[in-house]
Amino acid sequence: MFRRVFIFGSTGSIGKKALEIIDTFHGDIEVFGLSAYSSIDCLVAQAIKYRVKVVVVPNLEAKELFHKKWTNKNLIPKILIGSESLVDMAYDSSYDTVIAAIVGIAGMPSALAAAKAGKRILLANKEVLVVAGDLFMQYVFTFKAELIPIDSEHNAIFQCLCGNENGIDFKKIENSINRILLTASGGPFRGYSLDSLQNVTPEKACSHPRWNMGPKISVDSSTMINKGFEVIETHWLFNIPTRKIEILIHPQSVIHSMVEYIDGSIIAQLSKPDMGIPISYALGFPIRTKNKVGFVDFTELRKLDFYQPDFIKFPCLSLAFDALKLGQAHCIVLNAANEVAVDAFLNENIRYTSISRIIDASINWYEQKIPYSLNNLDDILHLDRITRDFARKICHV
Ligand code: NAD
Ligand code: MG
Repeated sequence: MFRRVFIFGSTGSIGKKALEIIDTFHGDIEVFGLSAYSSIDCLVAQAIKYRVKVVVVPNLEAKELFHKKWTNKNLIPKILIGSESLVDMAYDSSYDTVIAAIVGIAGMPSALAAAKAGKRILLANKEVLVVAGDLFMQYVFTFKAELIPIDSEHNAIFQCLCGNENGIDFKKIENSINRILLTASGGPFRGYSLDSLQNVTPEKACSHPRWNMGPKISVDSSTMINKGFEVIETHWLFNIPTRKIEILIHPQSVIHSMVEYIDGSIIAQLSKPDMGIPISYALGFPIRTKNKVGFVDFTELRKLDFYQPDFIKFPCLSLAFDALKLGQAHCIVLNAANEVAVDAFLNENIRYTSISRIIDASINWYEQKIPYSLNNLDDILHLDRITRDFARKICHV
């Protein structure tokens, strides 16, 4: 097995973890290219260490900064700029595997292109499936891309469905499944009262009890919209109807999800809560590879707890379920309004509890409009843009 990888979003939490795991493959995986939107210092250090051929940065200023910071005697990589270059690189045939680790809808065009290019795609960027699940999966099947989710729950479901085998037909598997039990840690505010959520700060929202993640997904996990996104993700990835997907709060985060079959058998995937495991599985699939994460000690763990999710305290969860039922336009609005609201919250422009209010108001705003027809990528991006304009306006009222 030899793979050549391009990491879209290499300076983020997933990107860095992916590089750590690549080190454990001892040369069987070569890093062909990297991309970053900020943290150019980090990108330069990564490009030097992995001797990459190409980097993609957002603009001319970032390109100049990259040049300035490149003090190494090695040949400087080709430096491309802008989101169009990410799409072009997705089609480049010099490598075979994409790690889609950009955060938000910004990662969608390049992920769609990677599917059209028939790559092996290690998908972290769940927003792609939230806003364009149908289109993305169509491309995956039509262009014979190989899709392996690395979101921990979906990687767990993937493992429960096909174990170590290659080639399960996910289009047909639904009939044998009774339920998917999507586990959730419950986030940092599981024990909080509804009232105390008013005073949550960005710092508190970003300190997740089990996972160390980028700021946007940390806030998404705390509002539980992340779990709502993951329901949508499960639906598209595995062709499972919403009625068969249940959320189960499991604070220890050791069971990463379970599949219950129609005969009453349940298969679960367990491991330490560390993204290194799904990434390692996906890079090596179908061969398992050693990594440095370590093993679960059941005597230390002693018990596993499970609870129902609280839809009153976490209204974003209901908003996501509703959006999935109502269709793609609602999911695009849900995602765009959430991205704007989370950004405003992280910049201390709105209160924590306003996040769900802004999403709700954006969905109501959309429902007053004539329904949108969404036939292509431009239609999706247009609805995303006008929703952001609306959501930004109400962030300032
Ligand atoms: P992060 O914020 O730590 O990193 C994001 C990366 O994307 C960075 O390299 C950044 O430079 C790049 N980026 C940001 N905005 C961009 C833009 N407009 N254009 C191009 N590149 C841009 O995020 P993360 O926590 O690594 O999460 C990445 C994705 O993986 C998200 O979709 C998240 O939901 C998903 N995910 C993350 C985790 C986790 O443990 N961190 C787990 C499951 C899924
Ligand atoms: Mg997850």
